[in-house]
Amino acid sequence: MKIVVVGGGASGFSAAKVAKNCGVEEVTLIERTDTLGGWALVSGIGLCGSGSFSILQEATALGGASFYNEIVLPIATHSELMMPGFDRAMLFNVTKLDARMKRNIYESKINLFLEEKVIKTEIYENKIKSILLESGKTIEADVFIDATGSVTGLDGCEDYGVGCVECIQRCMRFGDPKGLVDEKIKLISSLDANGNKGVTGTSYLIPIASLSLKLQKQVQSNGFAYIEVPENIKPDINRGKKAGSHSMSIMSQPIIKNNILLADIGGFVKVTANAAPRYANSLRQIEGLEDIVISQPLSGHKGHAVEGLAIAPRDNKMRVEGYKNLFCAGIKSSHSLFLLDVSISGDFAGYNAARYCFGLEPLELSKNLAFGAFTSYVNELIKSEDGLKKSPQADKKTLTKLNVFKEDKNEIIENVKKLNLENIFNKQIVV
Ligand SMILES: Cc1cc2nc3c(=O)[nH]c(=O)nc-3n(C[C@H](O)[C@H](O)[C@H](O)COP(=O)(O)OP(=O)(O)OC[C@H]3O[C@@H](n4cnc5c(N)ncnc54)[C@H](O)[C@@H]3O)c2cc1C
Repeated sequence: MKIVVVGGGASGFSAAKVAKNCGVEEVTLIERTDTLGGWALVSGIGLCGSGSFSILQEATALGGASFYNEIVLPIATHSELMMPGFDRAMLFNVTKLDARMKRNIYESKINLFLEEKVIKTEIYENKIKSILLESGKTIEADVFIDATGSVTGLDGCEDYGVGCVECIQRCMRFGDPKGLVDEKIKLISSLDANGNKGVTGTSYLIPIASLSLKLQKQVQSNGFAYIEVPENIKPDINRGKKAGSHSMSIMSQPIIKNNILLADIGGFVKVTANAAPRYANSLRQIEGLEDIVISQPLSGHKGHAVEGLAIAPRDNKMRVEGYKNLFCAGIKSSHSLFLLDVSISGDFAGYNAARYCFGLEPLELSKNLAFGAFTSYVNELIKSEDGLKKSPQADKKTLTKLNVFKEDKNEIIENVKKLNLENIFNKQIVV
């Protein structure tokens, strides 16, 4: 029994862990770069709002959330922060992610192939038979999970970017990221406010050492600093012909539009600035930021990312439409970017891939569960133009709208027990 997970970000990690915990003998995780973490390497806001806490409790009761419980929470730099626009925020140290993820994968006895890129997929009667890696290896498996993210690399950057090739994707020597059946399915893309494909990210990293001493002290002791954008400094990205911002997301709150938020995520501040400058030259005109450099890793002058270009159509069981043994996870499966939602979608895809391996029908999570309701809600959104303009998050507002918001931990655990789903992501599947 063998499962192959492609993509070593938060969702791929989570899928591989759950598949292994459910008793699949051989689980292999393939990552095209030399580093695990994907976009999580530059994210840093681990939790925010009571919706997050509710989702985390539920996923833990289901036996999942290992990306949080084993990797992210132990490296939190600040917890329960009230940052403008982000209440109850938990920040984590992004510099420790790769090493911790790798150790955890080795200890879990999951095979890890680094610097191996899937370039071709062999399909027979709606089933993936094998994948071909750039190194020439062919790998067969019973089930595959596509957790390759939703960017298209240099092509997407040339079409929608402004010159930055999004260094988070690591050196171009590794080639562009690509999903398992991207060329064979009708991919879905997020839409900006004008209905154009692809949306720009709203954050970038600055090394704390390059801030003024006063600002360094402020972010390290308070966890964050918050700077009003002076009137003479205008947003400096010409988005006229390029991808714009999501029109409906947490990042379009006025507070994020008119201010720059600097959050301490261990060695770097994560800068969240929706309509604020993204170029170092503009930022350097602001007090405290005179000597800054943008690092993602050291990209120098441009803070920009294009996201949401290559989402796979799927059902509510995380199975890619048209394929029997291909599941998808993370931002490959939706335009919900929040790390917590992404990692738990990985848990769910790993679980259903394991069920398929054991000859069981994949499960659709009950809509009485917060994550079950959210998974199907997002699936509806990616099917319409208006839905693709949103960047959904499993926050209190959304969960309340879906009638599944619960705050009390015991009530959340009871709900999972009542549905007979306690610990399902973390126990041997019995047939
Ligand atoms: C700048 C920025 C800041 C962010 N900040 C936050 C934040 O503060 N809080 C938050 O909650 N979320 C944040 N996000 C969003 C969050 O980080 C992402 O949604 C999440 O990390 C995506 O995880 P993933 O596993 O789905 O995909 P990814 O992280 O994109 O992982 C996909 C992996 O697949 C690999 N891959 C691709 N193609 C292949 C192939 N053919 N063969 C092998 N491997 C392949 C890639 O190299 C990559 O490692 C941020 C995103 C960005 C860009």
